[in-house]
Amino acid sequence: MNTADQAFIKIQNQRVVLNEIIKHYPVSRAKLSKITQLNKATISSQTATLIDKNLVTEIGTGLSSGGRKPVMLVFNKNAGYAIGVDIGVNYILTILTDLEGGIVYSDYCEFADPSFEVVKPIIIERIRLVSSKAPDSPYGIIGIGAGVHGFVNRKQMVLFTPNSKWRNVDLKKLLEDHFDCPVLIDNEANAGAYGEKLFGSLKNCHNGIYVSIGIGIGLGIIVNDALYRGTEGFSGEMGHMSIDFNGKLCRCGNHGCWELYASEHAFYENLYNLKSKEDITLEKASKWIQENDNETIEQLELFGYYLGIGLTNIINTFNPEAIVLRSNLIEANPIVLNSIQSTIASRVSRFVHQSRQIYISQLNRNATALGSASFMIQDFLKGTGQLKM
Ligand SMILES: [Zn+2]
Repeated sequence: MNTADQAFIKIQNQRVVLNEIIKHYPVSRAKLSKITQLNKATISSQTATLIDKNLVTEIGTGLSSGGRKPVMLVFNKNAGYAIGVDIGVNYILTILTDLEGGIVYSDYCEFADPSFEVVKPIIIERIRLVSSKAPDSPYGIIGIGAGVHGFVNRKQMVLFTPNSKWRNVDLKKLLEDHFDCPVLIDNEANAGAYGEKLFGSLKNCHNGIYVSIGIGIGLGIIVNDALYRGTEGFSGEMGHMSIDFNGKLCRCGNHGCWELYASEHAFYENLYNLKSKEDITLEKASKWIQENDNETIEQLELFGYYLGIGLTNIINTFNPEAIVLRSNLIEANPIVLNSIQSTIASRVSRFVHQSRQIYISQLNRNATALGSASFMIQDFLKGTGQLKM
């Protein structure tokens, strides 16, 4: 075997060992050898390297069936920190996480003008603030991941954000110019789906759909445990699937797009028109729903009905194991699941069973930011630098 092959195998083994420590810690070297089928000498040298790199530490002793008690290995989740950013149409959520996705610090800020010129300095300022909260660690900030509500291509260029009108924004370069760490930009629904796959409701699903419902509607698609991004990276723009071909004209140029009927924005707009143009917040709408206000309940049921129609199309397209809904309105008023479920039940083929698993997001507002941070953590642990021999 030549030297290059040997080095490759060493790196592969190191990834396997680190992966198993993360999954099973605290774990002894003997158990690691059993799990990985690598011999004791390999385990010993690999764990020594990981300890040198501050990714693994030794603690006390574990249980032993007799003789000397083994030293246990633990993953050092505080070896570095990742930043995840969710850049919405009127808000930015920035979180700091440890290497296991645990949220250490979180910052939320709203803005009225979504134009890039206004939002640009806010993004830099919030990331700077959050990174200043990172405790001292061997690797510091290992990366910044950001999810954007719009079209992001495979080169991570933000081509267009329909609701805030950004065009051809090189957010990746902007962040790389300001921060000395790797940066990754993706669509917010892709990032949210990834977060749910790693830490939330899609954890045990091989094929799952994440639906982000806010001002618009976007999908993150998990196929065979991986994100499906499409040829150019624009998969999941199902908010612009036409559900009424003669319907209202959409910003995208199409008619009767799903998000014109089933987004939170549509719900609030309808309610606003019914309630003599009164400003309507989530808190106000939720209060009316709890008080059984007829008009609000009717609008909520209509929102659920339109969601159910689009979700039926999604179920017929993907036949997923589960669908996760991410929406502040739904999370605050889970009763709307009844209209969603009954619409789907009345429309979907009776042969489709699994696909009726509809969940409310477990990660809620953190889904996109957490998914974005996780992209960076995965890249870091896969060894884009620190695992080199
Ligand atoms: Zn549209």
